[in-house]
Amino acid sequence: MGRDDKGKVGFIGIGTMGREMVLNLLKAGHAVRAFDLNQAAVADVARQGADFAENPADAADGADIVITMLPDTPHVEAVIYGEHGLLQSPPPGKLIVDMSTVSPVAVRRIHGDLRQADVSFIDAPVSGGPLGAKNAALSIMAGGEADAFASAKPFFRAMGTTINHVGASGAGQTVKLCNQLVCGINIQAICEALALGRASGVDLNLLREVLLGGAGASWMLDKLGPSMIEGNVGAGFRIDLMFKDLRLVQEHAQALNVPLPGTALVTSQYVDARAHGEGANGNQALFRVYDRMTNQVKG
Ligand code: NAD
Repeated sequence: MGRDDKGKVGFIGIGTMGREMVLNLLKAGHAVRAFDLNQAAVADVARQGADFAENPADAADGADIVITMLPDTPHVEAVIYGEHGLLQSPPPGKLIVDMSTVSPVAVRRIHGDLRQADVSFIDAPVSGGPLGAKNAALSIMAGGEADAFASAKPFFRAMGTTINHVGASGAGQTVKLCNQLVCGINIQAICEALALGRASGVDLNLLREVLLGGAGASWMLDKLGPSMIEGNVGAGFRIDLMFKDLRLVQEHAQALNVPLPGTALVTSQYVDARAHGEGANGNQALFRVYDRMTNQVKG
């Protein structure tokens, strides 16, 4: 079976996550037309079998499905409503899936506008980080109509292992925001444990190992703990993106009158991290806030 028989994908947003997702779609036998404002990112996946698209409409040309993986709500709105946008030029398969983390309110508006044009729209944000993307092991949480979800599922299978339809349009983003508030408060808890352990003279690698064997275990401690202990701030998931997610959590919660004091506290620490120029660092660099509070910053 050729690549076109497997289903053709237009993919927009070839960044940290999108690159790996495109490579896995290619590996699963799909034809991919890729677009990003950063042409070098497109050239990179083009060398590995994707086709080069000039703009969103060109990525949608001949596609069964268009997938977007962009930083924030305005970027998704730009590729839907902007010049050469997908509302004007939808894919012939009439299916668009946004896998970025964005506002559930914006998602429902886009869903309604595309529906008027007889195009289905699924919000399907992901969890699992760059490693999950690379290993095609993402957790994908989707909102929208059941038939559109069923059409998107074979493509999701090329990128993830835990694939759930969690409700109507916007529900995927709501579940993702719940995931992000757990991640944010969890990373803060790890920072506090490491700060206390360090001040007490405990071996932090041993502390991590012990916690991983008990009720304090978590994905964050497992995957980000070593970088936090070593002081490695290299980015997989940037501080800026986590701050954006926590902002979305707060906006959503305020609209529903749900108080989230834990989220508010950790968000202020992300503000502090950004104010110290760490927006482009990895999420684990939240630990530097604790370095500063405990007078451990050198130089
Ligand atoms: P990224 O910044 O690495 O990649 C985004 C890409 O979108 C960039 O290549 C950028 O050039 C491109 N872009 C921006 N505006 C565009 C436009 N108008 N048209 C075309 N391309 C455009 O971000 P990422 O880390 O890949 O994250 C993407 C999304 O996935 C975000 O919403 C993020 O919150 C979410 N997410 C990220 C991770 C992670 O660990 N990095 C994990 C889960 C979810």
